[in-house]
Amino acid sequence: MNSANIARDFFVGDVICPNCKVLVQVTIPTGIRMQSSNLDYLEVGDFIHIPSMDEMESAGYKKLSQGEKHGLNLLEIWDCVSCNTVFHWAIVRIMKGYLRSIKAIQLDQDYLDECHFISEQAIMVAMSICGLPYLDFIDKDWITIIRQHL
Ligand SMILES: [Zn+2]
Repeated sequence: MNSANIARDFFVGDVICPNCKVLVQVTIPTGIRMQSSNLDYLEVGDFIHIPSMDEMESAGYKKLSQGEKHGLNLLEIWDCVSCNTVFHWAIVRIMKGYLRSIKAIQLDQDYLDECHFISEQAIMVAMSICGLPYLDFIDKDWITIIRQHL
């Protein structure tokens, strides 16, 4: 896990904060555009070339389940700029090459099942929820460990 080498763009979108109920703009760092020159803002409706499933790990994601042919759901985290709470969950949905939606969620087992990849930042948060250090986590069946804590 070496995020420093991953080119970063940002998913940008408006979501309702589950804590303060305010509509806030979120910026979620992502390495999904592997050829990116960095720091572009990707909004709903923007074209995104999806890396191959094998390349997703290089892009900073770990696989949760098999993606569909034309669509990917990414499990991400974000912070609220209104109430300053951190580590809210979101699903970023990419369909047929376009950023389709950014949706704030309360992570549960159903949402976990919907997601095909989880970002490294989100894994860090999941680890803290489970109370496990990285090395105890990543060599085990960490998807099952997360599921048991939801
Ligand atoms: Zn908030």
